[in-house]
Amino acid sequence: MGLAKIRDGGIVETASWLIAPPEGLDHFAPRNVAIHGITAKEVDGAPSWARVFPEVLSFAGGDLFVAHNASFDRSVFRKASAAFDLEVPDTVWYDTLPIARRLLTLGSYSLPFVANALGLEDFTHHEAEADAVQAARILLTLAGRSGVDSIAELANPLGIHSVPTRPGSLSRPVGDGSRAAGDFSSLAATDVLAGESVVFTGTLSLHTRAEAHALVEHYGGTWQKSVTKATTILVSGDLDPRTFRPGAEFSRKLQKAMDLAEKGQPLEILTEQDLIDRLDIGQEALEAATREQRAVGRAGWLPLHVVEQARALTGEDLNYSTWLRQALRHPAGHPGAGDQCLRCEGMIGPDVYWMFRERWMCSPECNDGLKRAAKKAWSDQGIDRPSAPSYAASWAR
Ligand SMILES: [Zn+2]
Repeated sequence: MGLAKIRDGGIVETASWLIAPPEGLDHFAPRNVAIHGITAKEVDGAPSWARVFPEVLSFAGGDLFVAHNASFDRSVFRKASAAFDLEVPDTVWYDTLPIARRLLTLGSYSLPFVANALGLEDFTHHEAEADAVQAARILLTLAGRSGVDSIAELANPLGIHSVPTRPGSLSRPVGDGSRAAGDFSSLAATDVLAGESVVFTGTLSLHTRAEAHALVEHYGGTWQKSVTKATTILVSGDLDPRTFRPGAEFSRKLQKAMDLAEKGQPLEILTEQDLIDRLDIGQEALEAATREQRAVGRAGWLPLHVVEQARALTGEDLNYSTWLRQALRHPAGHPGAGDQCLRCEGMIGPDVYWMFRERWMCSPECNDGLKRAAKKAWSDQGIDRPSAPSYAASWAR
């Protein structure tokens, strides 16, 4: 975790922490180590996020959060907090990525490219504090070039502050069950697919075919069932970038698309992730919008055991997180193959964090939904529970 504090147009203070991941999430994928260079050994003995969290809030002191590609940072912040049942305060986040996109013309808008274009000093990319300092410099430089002295002026009039769009959404639970299937209206609409005719093939990891079609329409495109001379984009769910090369074996749809492209038809073959990138929405936002539809009709929903177990805990001398764990866990133990998320009926993958698995929840979002519904029911039924640790004092330093 790296932070840089801005006051009066300058960086006045920085801070960084090495944090030990919680048990069960302490796998160091070589791919990630290659990016940030942090190994298990380096965080051996480092504090947990639960210990660092109040220090971070204290450093922030109620300020706005700004990051480059902020949806990623915000999602890590939220997921790490969810792993400890920490209560995240309402915070506004701004993203320098869309601001840079709006004000600069570059081939790539990743942090090093933007920094270079603005003539900023070199830095060690993916080192947390250096990234934070560089994001702060980018913000200050873009603000200076625009002649404004507040981020609200930089972002609001142009409508370019992206994630999230209103105060409080850091802790605002997604998935209120209020959207119909195929309703992606919670995602900002653009006409990025206008004029495109899209065909899907293979197994999509994120969506059913009907959802994928609705998504294309939301972004101004049309869809077809099979590849024709009018097709401009083929999204292949089974495309493995490592084997996608001439001479490989392709499905019928994919082969037809390749043939048409070779004959000069402007037809682009994309992976599912390529399409998501093209739409310029974060994977996180898209998953949340999809989940919102799948949890439809579940307002007022709450598994019975959550109330029964909470009632049985009356009089037990437990701390907040232990009480919460015992009240929320599924009485049948961990889910097995084929068991679904109690909230959205989605898959509970083997990689889902153990505490969410214990509750039969597929994701931090569904876990938030469970906790929200449970707290309401406990209050309505007068079930006492230990109070959450308060960070108010450090937050308001
Ligand atoms: Zn779920």
